[in-house]
Amino acid sequence: MADVKKYDLIIAGAGLSGLSLAWYLAKGGYKGDVLLVDSSFAPSNNKTWCFWTKETPPFSQIIYKKWRKTFFSALDFDAFLYMNEYTYHCIRESDFKEHVLIELKKYPNFKLLEEGILDFSSNKNKAALVTKNSDTYLANFIFQSIFNPSGFDKKKLKYPIIQHFYGMEIKTNKPVFDPETFTIMDFDEDFKKGLAFIYVLPYKENRALVEFTVFSKKPLKKKKKYRKKIRAYLKEKHGLNKEDYEVKRKEYGEIPMDDRSPDPYYTSKILNIGTVGGQTKPSTGYTFTRIQKYTSKLADSIINGEEPIPVPPSKFRYRYYDLLLLHIISNSQKESLRVFQQLFKNNSLDELFEFLSEDTSVFQDLKVMNSVPYTPFFKAISKNLRIKS
Ligand SMILES: Cc1cc2nc3c(=O)[nH]c(=O)nc-3n(C[C@H](O)[C@H](O)[C@H](O)COP(=O)(O)OP(=O)(O)OC[C@H]3O[C@@H](n4cnc5c(N)ncnc54)[C@H](O)[C@@H]3O)c2cc1C
Repeated sequence: MADVKKYDLIIAGAGLSGLSLAWYLAKGGYKGDVLLVDSSFAPSNNKTWCFWTKETPPFSQIIYKKWRKTFFSALDFDAFLYMNEYTYHCIRESDFKEHVLIELKKYPNFKLLEEGILDFSSNKNKAALVTKNSDTYLANFIFQSIFNPSGFDKKKLKYPIIQHFYGMEIKTNKPVFDPETFTIMDFDEDFKKGLAFIYVLPYKENRALVEFTVFSKKPLKKKKKYRKKIRAYLKEKHGLNKEDYEVKRKEYGEIPMDDRSPDPYYTSKILNIGTVGGQTKPSTGYTFTRIQKYTSKLADSIINGEEPIPVPPSKFRYRYYDLLLLHIISNSQKESLRVFQQLFKNNSLDELFEFLSEDTSVFQDLKVMNSVPYTPFFKAISKNLRIKS
């Protein structure tokens, strides 16, 4: 029988959540043996993670750009909005991976294994990981960000919506962007196959990531449809023709706006983390900050010799608000536009970020609720009367 290697912990998947957990464990002084497994540790720059925070951001050394001013547009309202308490930050996937992997090399108890993972199993004492080469690795616990737990796909989605987007990082031949102002949402009312908007992260006057994002059931069949929208936007907004800019990088993503209740355990001794652990906020797709908050607490529990804490569920009321918004998004483009318009018109950005961070009091929630048209929400509530807490 092949030699079975044993570790204290296995982190399966070295993406955002896996590497964040490894980082907090190493930095917190964890002394056990940790195996990190991923099909590739090669540098990749396919994602740009943005998030807002009031505090010093996690991984502050590698913040690529930050903003305190944004542009928003929907229907007949457009405005420049300012943050007072929050700052919007972005980190590039390549910087994050390089930064964490270089640091982990200083910790001999962290080993990397570059192999495809086939499966996991566990009993009440141990968890096992099987690679595509049929090697088996054992640990007291596995933290995995790769597979949805069995049965999850059979759970019925009430609103099967995904957030899909395509971005082009461009370099223009003249200065056109204001690097101090990112565009959070510039809604495209002409697009009828979902709720769509342009998102712009300007890095310099002549450099920006421009994305076309859609909330709908399915991604667009061809990438060129997203590209066409971006090119039309650059022409209309900045007078840029195709020959006025070079495309330096492309970014495509599909983020689940999943209303199913997440399963914190894959099986006993195997915990789900990251997106498969339900850490994506259903109504927005933002995941970065939730992963940081959770993996740092998880690392603390492990370092303190406690039972590793599973991903905590969001409070019922926030899950319910998400469900109502998903109902509106999947039922009416017109009402969705009105809701987003009123949210950004009648609340400060700080208030909205606080609400989306799920850090508000019930009183603050009521203020946000009071700022949007009631009818779409009443309709959404009438369709969601029997939701279990
Ligand atoms: C393009 C894009 C942009 C995003 N931007 C933002 C943003 O701005 N802000 C935000 O909050 N959220 C954002 N998200 C959402 C979320 O933060 C990211 O998807 C994040 O990477 C999720 O982290 P994760 O650890 O769950 O998964 P991942 O980071 O995807 O990590 C999973 C890892 O598992 C590995 N893997 C998968 N299958 C196997 C296998 N069989 N064997 C071995 N290894 C395997 C992969 O190689 C990968 O490294 C974005 C998502 C995408 C797709």
